[in-house]
Amino acid sequence: MIEIKTELTTNKKQKPDLNNLGFGRFFTDHMFVLDYKEDKGWHDPRIIPYQPISLDPAAKVFHYSQTVFEGLKAYLTVDKRVLLFRPESNFKRLNVSNERLCIPAINEELALEALKQLVAVDRDWIPSTPGTSLYIRPFIIATDPCLGVSSAKQFQFIMILSPVGSYYKDGIKPVRILVEDYYVRAAPGGTGAAKTGGNYASSLKGQEMASKDGYEQTLWLDGKEKRYVEEVGSMNIFFKINGTVITPALNGSILPGITRDSMIQLLKAKKIAVEERRISINEIVEAYHNGALEEAFGTGTAAVISPIGELKWLDEKIIINNSEIGEVTQMLYDTLIGIQNGSLKDEFSWTIML
Ligand SMILES: *Cc1c(COP(=O)(O)O)cnc(C)c1O
Repeated sequence: MIEIKTELTTNKKQKPDLNNLGFGRFFTDHMFVLDYKEDKGWHDPRIIPYQPISLDPAAKVFHYSQTVFEGLKAYLTVDKRVLLFRPESNFKRLNVSNERLCIPAINEELALEALKQLVAVDRDWIPSTPGTSLYIRPFIIATDPCLGVSSAKQFQFIMILSPVGSYYKDGIKPVRILVEDYYVRAAPGGTGAAKTGGNYASSLKGQEMASKDGYEQTLWLDGKEKRYVEEVGSMNIFFKINGTVITPALNGSILPGITRDSMIQLLKAKKIAVEERRISINEIVEAYHNGALEEAFGTGTAAVISPIGELKWLDEKIIINNSEIGEVTQMLYDTLIGIQNGSLKDEFSWTIML
């Protein structure tokens, strides 16, 4: 086993109110840190009390966004076991993002072991009320104090933990989505398939415009022709048309979601037709006009599923399933949540017990 030093806090924080957690507002007592230097590689893995980090103002991450992140969750089951959902997939994807951002690969086994030890240390922070979980945020930053535009030679890999509330406090509610016809999230050859900060900074403007119009999220079309559907907000997207569930094929500018992959596997297991292919906004409008557009939803770790009740494209409002959650959407949500929180049998071996 890889040795990870642990320094426990002598000053435990007060736990937040479980009924008012929100998302990413509270952090546990400890964090994991791993350093990189060119001559030493990744070294000095340690669990330390949660604390601010001190960086030179010239650190490259502040100027050129050389950074990547991940997001996954730990759940407390009713019989008090701790389950991590597909954590190896997240560390594998972190290394794919690293490759794109010229960040040295991490040891995925070490990261998983560190995560398990960190969650074990802060185990009493995992919220137990229905719908809550412990959100895990691993990330890497370039720390070299140098303004030259080149890949850094020093990095830090950090993991922090945040108890989060149920995404749907008052039951699942379908969202209204504005289809963005000017801004783009990602382009061919760009960084859309990597989980890196710049993608999110550049998406804020479209998000803000959608908000001003009274919409909750942006639907992103492809960056070249603005014809093909890519993602919704920071989630992958699915449509059910004439009984078949369709999601855009991974094309290099779409983030390969682990929830997306899980949904595809669930649909196949339930013998529901599922296709990964290019789908244009025109095809969706046409399906709507023909009465064939049955359901639409986004998928991602934070919400698991977010049903779409309305799409606004140019001057047209497309109302999906009467703005109610669809049958397949509900089934997928219940099944995945059940596997994640241990109330359903995990036939896919997706969960890992701490
Ligand atoms: C993280 C993310 C997703 C969803 O990925 P999951 O692994 O399912 O959480 C989808 N799109 C974008 C842009 C993302 O950043």
